Amino acid sequence: MVNTNGFAPTTYDADVIVIGAGISGSAAAKSLHDQGVEVLIVEANDRIGGRTWTEPEGMPGGALDKGGMFIGETHKHLIELGTSLGLEMTPSGKPGDDTYMMLGNVHRAPDEKLDPSLLFTAEYEASLEALDALADRVGYEEPWASPDAAELDSKTVATWIEESFEHPEVKRLHTLFVNVFLGADASEVSLLYWAYYVSECEGVAQLMGTRDGAQWAWWVGGAAQVSWRIADAIGREKVLLNWPVTRIAQDDDGITVFSGERSLRARNVIIAMAPIAANQIRFEPALPTSRAQLQARAPMGRYFKIQARYPSTFWVEQGNSGALVDTDDMGVFVLDGTKPMDSLSTLIGFVGGTHYDRWSAKSPEERKRGFIDVLVKAFGPQAAEPSYYHETNWTEQEWARGGPVTYMPTGVMSNFGAALRDPIGRIHFAGTEASYQWSGYMEGGVRAGQKAAAAIAQEILAGSAREGER
Ligand SMILES: Cc1cc2nc3c(=O)[nH]c(=O)nc-3n(C[C@H](O)[C@H](O)[C@H](O)COP(=O)(O)OP(=O)(O)OC[C@H]3O[C@@H](n4cnc5c(N)ncnc54)[C@H](O)[C@@H]3O)c2cc1C
Repeated sequence: MVNTNGFAPTTYDADVIVIGAGISGSAAAKSLHDQGVEVLIVEANDRIGGRTWTEPEGMPGGALDKGGMFIGETHKHLIELGTSLGLEMTPSGKPGDDTYMMLGNVHRAPDEKLDPSLLFTAEYEASLEALDALADRVGYEEPWASPDAAELDSKTVATWIEESFEHPEVKRLHTLFVNVFLGADASEVSLLYWAYYVSECEGVAQLMGTRDGAQWAWWVGGAAQVSWRIADAIGREKVLLNWPVTRIAQDDDGITVFSGERSLRARNVIIAMAPIAANQIRFEPALPTSRAQLQARAPMGRYFKIQARYPSTFWVEQGNSGALVDTDDMGVFVLDGTKPMDSLSTLIGFVGGTHYDRWSAKSPEERKRGFIDVLVKAFGPQAAEPSYYHETNWTEQEWARGGPVTYMPTGVMSNFGAALRDPIGRIHFAGTEASYQWSGYMEGGVRAGQKAAAAIAQEILAGSAREGER
């Protein structure tokens, strides 16, 4: 343990307790451990990984990622961390046309581009430029201080879509993007937040690319391995599972973290989870209003991740990439999920927001039929009989509190957004939501975790250097 003389070392179970064994908490713990800072991770769940959730074995066709999975081409912190842990990447995108199911028809889109002869293609392309321009205006460093922040934060994305675009299909496409990327409906999300989200994800092309950008590669063997390997590196005994934090009490000498009757003491704490998850913890003294309000008012999306596995990648043989945008039936966004080493080929569907609400009200059999019907329409009868089918309902995950990411309704970002990142005494905030960029992604989780760790390590190491000089 680092010499913490002056900080009553005997009372500490670790220098730092990291709360949450997702990728962000894991990245924070590894940074601290590498610098000689004693760290413990406490995790509510019975597994490590959080919103990355890999079933490595026993799944027909190969390892199954039930949560985050795609690595972006600019996700440098994640790539560096995973690679340093000995993980290998494999490219994700498949060759071929993307597919759009809209206005009752199936349209193929070579080079990710809609057919220019469609009546609304020109307006659609201009609409994406308009979203990029809005994102540039808001930025990601201090969106709450951007020009017109209050006005943009008083408007929902649905209102902006209605005011800005004419063709109903352009409106439907923008609505679906919010459903898919945030797991919420456009009528629930602040325009300021959506513009910030697009900005912090480097713009529309990076965010939404179906084979490059944020959907560029995967970890061979699954995404949760990043956290598992970190647990191995710092020592599995340093990761306490089934340890839901219920209360955190700060005092002049340290901080005590409670799970019911159990408690641990440290000099600092990193809370590495979404704001709404942190809202289940009681804080003593009470959190400043801005952080308390943020935690209470920024929910997670509502989300299904659905996977159908087949004996062959027949869609690629037909000239289709497997990427599919469906505004007609299920409201699903589909991507190919087949890794070279898999024995079955996978199509992954994402259903969020009001489409989630609609489909969660149906039985699992009806949902499966709905998804398979979309795939048959898009890729033909070979899609009718998957060898394996799996769905993950993220909204039912007690500790994640939904998926894939946090969104903010109107009035939250401009009033309380700054509280996302600021430490409060001995408490530092990580979790992907605290990252300047790629918040909502594994990359953001790694960045926020490493940043919180760097701030604490600097403080602790400076403290021990001062002690050494005396
Ligand atoms: C279906 C889905 C698909 C996604 N796709 C992608 C993708 O392709 N690429 C990508 O980069 N990202 C993707 N994401 C997002 C990505 O998975 C997350 O951004 C990232 O994993 C968040 O990591 P985190 O450590 O910040 O938070 P989390 O993973 O949420 O970790 C928080 C941890 O804290 C724990 N916890 C909560 N409450 C308590 C408590 N009271 N006490 C102790 N522990 C607690 C939780 O159990 C959890 O383990 C996806 C997410 C989902 C759900």
